[in-house]
Amino acid sequence: MNAIPTPHPHARLPFPYRDELQVLHPLLESLGPGSGFDWFHAVQRARPWVQAVRDKPAPFWAMESLLHEYPISTTEGLALMRLAEALLRVPDTETAIALTADQLGKAEFDGATGGPHKMMASLSASAIALSKKFLPEAEAETGLIRRLGAQTVVAATVRAVQLLGRQFVLGRNIEEAMAEARAQRKAMPQLRYSYDMLGEGARTDADARRYLTSYVNAIRAIAGGRVASGPESADGISLKLSALFPRYEDAQRERVFAELLARVWQLIELAAPANINLTIDAEECDRLELSLDVFDALAKRIARQHPHWRGFGLAVQAYQTRAVDVVHEVARIARSQGLRFMVRLAKGAYWDGEVKRAQEQGLPGYPVFTHKQHTDIAYLACTKAAFGHTDVIYAQFATHNAGTIAAILSMAEAAGAEFEMQRLHGMSEGVYREVLKGEGGGPPLRIYAPVGEHRDLLAYLVRRLLENGANSSFVHQLADVTVDIDTLLASPLASEEAPSLPMPGEMLGRRRNSRGVDLTCIAQREPLLQAVAAARAEAVPESSLAQVDASMSRLHAAAHAWNAHGVAARAELLKRAADALEGRMAEFCGLLVKEAHKTLGDCVAEVREAVDFLRYYADEAESKLAAQALPGPTGESNELRLHGRGVFVCISPWNFPLAIFAGQVAAALVAGNTVAAKPAEQTPAVASRMVALLHEAGVPADALALLHGPGETVGAALVADARTTGVCFTGSTAVAKTINRALAAKDGPIAPLIAETGGINAMIVDSTALPEQVVDAVVQSAFRSAGQRCSALRLLCVHEGIADAVIDMIAGALAELQVGDPALLATDVGPVIDAHAHQGISLHIERLEREVRLIGRCAVREAVPGMHFIAPVAFELPQIADLKEEIFGPVLHVVRWSGNPDAVVAQVNALGYGLTLGIQTRIDSRALRLAGAARIGNVYVNRNMIGAVVGVQPFGGEGLSGTGPKAGGPHYLYRFCAEQTLTINTAAAGGNAALLAGMPLH
Ligand SMILES: Cc1cc2nc3c(=O)[nH]c(=O)nc-3n(C[C@H](O)[C@H](O)[C@H](O)COP(=O)(O)OP(=O)(O)OC[C@H]3O[C@@H](n4cnc5c(N)ncnc54)[C@H](O)[C@@H]3O)c2cc1C
Repeated sequence: MNAIPTPHPHARLPFPYRDELQVLHPLLESLGPGSGFDWFHAVQRARPWVQAVRDKPAPFWAMESLLHEYPISTTEGLALMRLAEALLRVPDTETAIALTADQLGKAEFDGATGGPHKMMASLSASAIALSKKFLPEAEAETGLIRRLGAQTVVAATVRAVQLLGRQFVLGRNIEEAMAEARAQRKAMPQLRYSYDMLGEGARTDADARRYLTSYVNAIRAIAGGRVASGPESADGISLKLSALFPRYEDAQRERVFAELLARVWQLIELAAPANINLTIDAEECDRLELSLDVFDALAKRIARQHPHWRGFGLAVQAYQTRAVDVVHEVARIARSQGLRFMVRLAKGAYWDGEVKRAQEQGLPGYPVFTHKQHTDIAYLACTKAAFGHTDVIYAQFATHNAGTIAAILSMAEAAGAEFEMQRLHGMSEGVYREVLKGEGGGPPLRIYAPVGEHRDLLAYLVRRLLENGANSSFVHQLADVTVDIDTLLASPLASEEAPSLPMPGEMLGRRRNSRGVDLTCIAQREPLLQAVAAARAEAVPESSLAQVDASMSRLHAAAHAWNAHGVAARAELLKRAADALEGRMAEFCGLLVKEAHKTLGDCVAEVREAVDFLRYYADEAESKLAAQALPGPTGESNELRLHGRGVFVCISPWNFPLAIFAGQVAAALVAGNTVAAKPAEQTPAVASRMVALLHEAGVPADALALLHGPGETVGAALVADARTTGVCFTGSTAVAKTINRALAAKDGPIAPLIAETGGINAMIVDSTALPEQVVDAVVQSAFRSAGQRCSALRLLCVHEGIADAVIDMIAGALAELQVGDPALLATDVGPVIDAHAHQGISLHIERLEREVRLIGRCAVREAVPGMHFIAPVAFELPQIADLKEEIFGPVLHVVRWSGNPDAVVAQVNALGYGLTLGIQTRIDSRALRLAGAARIGNVYVNRNMIGAVVGVQPFGGEGLSGTGPKAGGPHYLYRFCAEQTLTINTAAAGGNAALLAGMPLH
């Protein structure tokens, strides 16, 4: 295929984060009186379907029955889901036993719940319940007889999960699936299939190519060398673009157009001549605009090379606030190219993930509706919109909801439109059995038919378990006879409600969450890109030792007045500064890229963290630093009061030149101290602009001074100054020790040190972990920010049972990283901070290259003058103890382990550092036990181990990693304060007036 040029990004769709009710109004209007649509009339035909399904319920082994008995909101349902997700992939018996014992041990399959399906569900559950009795109570137990029993239980549970999975997979390979389809068609000749080759999103090029090959084979098999009479009546194929290309992301659009499109085109070149349907599945919201660009580009080419093919299709998710706009946009593309598309309308499968992403990123709102009924309304509005474009859209309605199906049939009759219904294999068979009994055999029905081995099924299976188990889901309610038919078929149109979830900005309750930026949204990222282009890092003059002395005098003199200013007033200034900083997000991002060479995503996260610090410490000060009355004898009042210590010296690092700088300074200031702030030598401009912002917000010049210069002179002078009453330091362990000694030796007050230093951070992965999730977490934790985070992963300890697979995947994922100019959106990894750092890391890498096995390395594609790049790299070490020091760069060390995971924690503890630890396991009790045994400040289970959020994951370690208390945590401010107990003898003036007057006593 000739390369399709990358189109310039432009927004085709409205802003995704609009007010939910504003989005809903026009949708409701399009379905309201005068539209010709009447829900109550339409759903009458669904009543007998529902009744018939309930009269003949699903068999006891069906997922609906099981999940109705044990919904995912119960421990049992959750245990079932966890086992289904993980058990089949565990390679070693020991761990499989531990996982089964862990999950089944929590559940009460044998009695707690009731319900009409109880008997049937119990049949399948009783096997599990019975076998549970044979399991070892603790994972450590190894008695032979018990183990033999346990192995039988595990084998039975594996079998049960396989049976569950089978319900959703048509065949292990395309041949088996097609044979099954042929068998089903004997009873129902009108069935069509859309085959889906199961697979997780690709992490490596090798995965993506394997997936491509399976699609090529599948399309060839489906086509069978024939030309179908039309894509409507033939079987087709569904395609997940994220599985065909490991970087299917908006930021990588150049590569998407250069590489992914060629792969899809290869499949189109097979599907189009065979005249079958090829539909692109809908994935996460942040890929929506990109997917339309891809679709449009492919359409243009189809128009030239296969102008008569009518089988190209796209799935649309109704839960997106932009769903109707997508339908219109697809129609517009079709018209502009003289094509007709097949459009699958689904409600959407990733609702929970979309909500979480919006909250984590502090987005301006949700890209999806927050009420189920609103999604239903949007679905109907999309149906209406699609029927308005029947000349260019053949609509395919993917739903299991009887009410929605009835509404579609009614609208289709009114529109006189051709269309088809779709269901997932293994779901809603009963409802469609009834629907197809309709006049003329009912509407055409296509079954979405996943094809794959058990290993590939797991993620898909969990989505279906969630779907079937969710209380709001139609299939769940259908199985629950306590939900009456009127409720089940109630009109969604009657509902128009304010969002059901707090907006991402309000999710923290009283404290406002910092506002983030959706970098995939052009309207949001454009100001940032402009600011990066315009950014200049101003020169900041170094302070002389005389200036240091003069500043310390001023700060010392101003300390009393600043403390007397009061907590509330100081907190107010921090909040004002937080708002100002949030408003200047773009400017500070630009400066961070320029001076600290951070990537845009890291910059946004850093500004947000600084804003969070300002707001958090302001709130903390207001609630924690007020005077506290203490109990005592009558005739006496006792009070504990907190005040600033005097002059605090804050010494911050270059790797978080804004967030850590602002956090230290804000904590010291709000506690009532004046502050001498010394930024890292490499990043004074960011610090200088932050100090200016604080001054503008109202912090007096005499309460905060910036002193820039080398640590050995300016830093040392500040620490040794007799007027220094405390030091807050973030940096290396070696410098923290130097400061500690200097403080001990200096004249003047005995000053506390708050030190936050580095760590040899490990991640322990057992064989229940999902390799794809592990690799995502590893790549983010070890290589993002060029490994220049204190929390970054240095040492991956992976169980030998899955080590080969994980190591291969890491090598493949490494090769996909983009290293280069941090100002570019596509860059994943920028340079290390300076030549000195580059030299140190390079020496370490050279030694490893000589001594141990290289796992993989990423290429540095372009050099940028003045920047120092280290290609992210991974090595395998023989044992944990071989890593002796923290390497502050994108270098990962991998060690294999077997046997007892507790021994691994002991070895990690023995390294002496204690900052961050990652644990990847599906054995919940194991995760808790290992976390309890770790002498480590921040433990992250089944996620990456960077990006601690203020007030959510207070950050800081122990041992060689720091003194505590944790930054962004509830104990931090106290360390900046001096305490005073004020005792007043209220009976001094002659007697105890309160006691004698009968006043209440405390
Ligand atoms: C043939 C077929 C193909 C599919 N292809 C895709 C695809 O490409 N991409 C994709 O993402 N999904 C796809 N799906 C999955 C589909 O989105 C879900 O099966 C579907 O959402 C279930 O809808 P329903 O009408 O059957 O059930 P219902 O029970 O009526 O609807 C459930 C749906 O409502 C939505 N919802 C639930 N709670 C809320 C809430 N609080 N606020 C707002 N909305 C909520 C969710 O989308 C949820 O899935 C496909 C489904 C089928 C049948």
